Amino acid sequence: MKLLCDLTPEELAALLKEYGQPAFRAKQIFGHISSGRELDEMSNVPKELIRRLKEDGWRALGLKIEQSYTSAIDGTVKYLYALGDGNIIEGVLMRYKYGNTLCVSTQVGCAMGCRFCASTLGGLVRDLTAGEILSQVIVVNALNTDGDKRGVTNVVLMGSGEPLDNYDNVTKFLDLLSLGDGLNISKRNVSLSTCGLCEKMIRLADSGYTPVLTVSLHAPFDELRKKIMPIANKYTVAQVIDAAKYFFEKTGRRVIFEYSMISGENDTEECAKELSRLLKGFSCHVNIIRLNYVKERGLIGSDEKAIDKFVKILDNNGVSHSVRRSMGSDIEGACGQLRRKYIDENKK
Ligand code: SAH
Repeated sequence: MKLLCDLTPEELAALLKEYGQPAFRAKQIFGHISSGRELDEMSNVPKELIRRLKEDGWRALGLKIEQSYTSAIDGTVKYLYALGDGNIIEGVLMRYKYGNTLCVSTQVGCAMGCRFCASTLGGLVRDLTAGEILSQVIVVNALNTDGDKRGVTNVVLMGSGEPLDNYDNVTKFLDLLSLGDGLNISKRNVSLSTCGLCEKMIRLADSGYTPVLTVSLHAPFDELRKKIMPIANKYTVAQVIDAAKYFFEKTGRRVIFEYSMISGENDTEECAKELSRLLKGFSCHVNIIRLNYVKERGLIGSDEKAIDKFVKILDNNGVSHSVRRSMGSDIEGACGQLRRKYIDENKK
């Protein structure tokens, strides 16, 4: 697939030069792409150029919105996108007082195999390109921009896929997202969630990227974490926390640990105490997540009483935390579920 949205303005200029175009054309087309226009919708671009680009297999954007579902409760919107090769991915737009946060996917499926997660059930299908990740933001932004009001103000890489398992495309995406001529969303308004690929966390910090790093920890003991997340066979909890500390020292950005509460597994008093011991003195934040029920997984989320008890122990130890608000609960919960449902229904 040849996607113009995969190109930086410099790469786009070099391509258009081959088509005999003046330098301003790249800026013009880059603007159109960022506004969510396909080649046929770029009214001030010469028809002949558009014809030739299409003939050579170029497209502007990497996907189209296939379906959307809006929550009657809080206005959260879930999107299903169709990629050029027919694969389906999903995302969600959450509306807050301070702006709109879009959750994007970085891969079709996922190779990480976390036991509670729907995205990984069919394994990894393929990486998304930088332009395909960017296209999710472009099309949702274009749809929700109203006059001066910005559509998407914040981006979280928490949809399907492991962002750091697709490092080059994800970092190129971060670069493209923040360009002034493009969507102009600062890297500081982006959260990148990882299951804890330590070398890549370090590389990200060393390369000067400064998203909010959120690390899916989910267990403070190695043996327990291995039962929940296969990646724990590769990196110990101590290594993950060390890499997070390195990221903080290098970037000055406070790291967030995600902790999804699974009844009877990682929600015990012992876990809360060990988590507190591990994080004491580290300027970080713990995000307690209510487990979204995934029927193929059968794991049960902790009840409110267990969550309260867990959180009190963190409190007593001075560990900063919050319990994440669930949004869009009426429109199909956890990441990866909507895509699976759609694929199942279309097979029938
Ligand atoms: N691969 C990345 C990002 C995608 S998942 C990562 O592992 O962080 C985003 C977050 O949602 C992760 O913290 C993940 O562990 C969590 N998650 C996935 N499925 C979930 C479910 N069913 N219930 C609660 N949290 C879930």
